[in-house]
Amino acid sequence: MFKPLLTLTGAFIATTAISIAQAKPLPQEDLSVAEVLRDRALASSDAYSIVESLTVEVGPRRAGTEGDRRAVAWAQEKMKSLGFDRVYTEQIEVPRWTRGHAHAQVVSPYPQPLVVSSLGYSVATPKGGLTAEIVEFPDVEALLQASPKQVKGKIAFINKRMEKARTGEGYGPAVQGRSKGMRAAAEKGAAALLLRSVGTDSDRFAHTGMMSINDVENPVPALALSAPDANLLEAMLKRGKPVEVKLDIDNQRHSDGPSFNVIGEITGREKPEEVMIIGAHLDSWDEGTGALDDGAGVAIVMETARLIAELPKRPRRTLRVVLFGAEEIGLVGAKQYLDAHRHELDNIIAISESDFGAGKIWRFDTRLPESKFDIADQMMQLLAPLGIERGHNKSYGGPDSSVFVAAGVPAFGLYQDGTDYFDYHHTPNDTLDKVKPENLRQNVAAWVVMSFLATEMEDNLGRIPSKIKE
Ligand SMILES: [Zn+2]
Repeated sequence: MFKPLLTLTGAFIATTAISIAQAKPLPQEDLSVAEVLRDRALASSDAYSIVESLTVEVGPRRAGTEGDRRAVAWAQEKMKSLGFDRVYTEQIEVPRWTRGHAHAQVVSPYPQPLVVSSLGYSVATPKGGLTAEIVEFPDVEALLQASPKQVKGKIAFINKRMEKARTGEGYGPAVQGRSKGMRAAAEKGAAALLLRSVGTDSDRFAHTGMMSINDVENPVPALALSAPDANLLEAMLKRGKPVEVKLDIDNQRHSDGPSFNVIGEITGREKPEEVMIIGAHLDSWDEGTGALDDGAGVAIVMETARLIAELPKRPRRTLRVVLFGAEEIGLVGAKQYLDAHRHELDNIIAISESDFGAGKIWRFDTRLPESKFDIADQMMQLLAPLGIERGHNKSYGGPDSSVFVAAGVPAFGLYQDGTDYFDYHHTPNDTLDKVKPENLRQNVAAWVVMSFLATEMEDNLGRIPSKIKE
């Protein structure tokens, strides 16, 4: 997925040296302040107590629920207590849905229960449940190519395994089944969709998550199946007899309702109208406490801003922490934020987001005009001692950030080690015990270097041309 790093770095140096006007180098004084901030973060930053507070005092906070409302109140209170200059909310509209029970069991030939979870916004089964034969597909493409006759009236079972990787790159291919599977099943006349969980663990937890629900004419119930239960079903099917499963699900879809993006600012001393956005998402799935996804990210960006607010003077530009609402159900808060802020798009000098758990940062990616690569090189001088390598220049900055990057906003990406992230992602097992305080300190140390230097530098970063050097 990624080019070898050496080639990439070589290319950076060659181009910047030969043909491109260099950006104004960052003054030594700023680099020294950034270094002090970095070392302070390593020694004493306390993002952990923020994520602890969020998971204990709020817990699950799926968009549009009571937990979400409490999270919005929590975030405002917390930002005020951390010394932000300005704290406010912006309302967004979100689709709402209630999760009821979800039961699944094999009724023949070898009756036994299965551990499942409704995918986000799944419809219910008829009262009393439905029973149907399983038809297995290796992936969603195979389901899409199946004849309706093969599928009609049956439960389509997508049995694709996800590869584990530090970059999390197995997620992209595996998540196709979740996003497109229900629609494909519905269009072929299936009774329901069962999906091997999009995850890398072998725990008996199912991984929920969003699917595409818009314009599906006759949606069918859609469930994730825990990995061990997917193995069980696979083994039963191998014995050659028809396997019948009973599903009983009770969910409810409601009209749209309000949620909020929560915003806190450290106001710039010279160019307050120019802002760098550092983001995370406040909402979570509803079965865990959202410690990794994305309580850790919330804590990292809030603690970063707190450290910068402690400096004797404000940075040149405004540092704006945006805790996006309703990320999990389709980047809803980010899209509505962009629409509401198009008038100031040219003043958003850069964006970055923390939304990949609580592992250590190991790579620094960017999306900058070529003429600004040496700014990133200077940041690297302070990031390298944290064990961070220089990566590529095609970063999207994170899921919510991607909508801003598509509109030409430069981005930074501090890439975390995601080896274990998809063991817990969207499960009841996404809880605080997975978060290590020392890893969060390393994260904050990197974030504070990047955020301080970007808000303090004299030049800005320009806009991203449609064709960039990657
Ligand atoms: Zn997330």
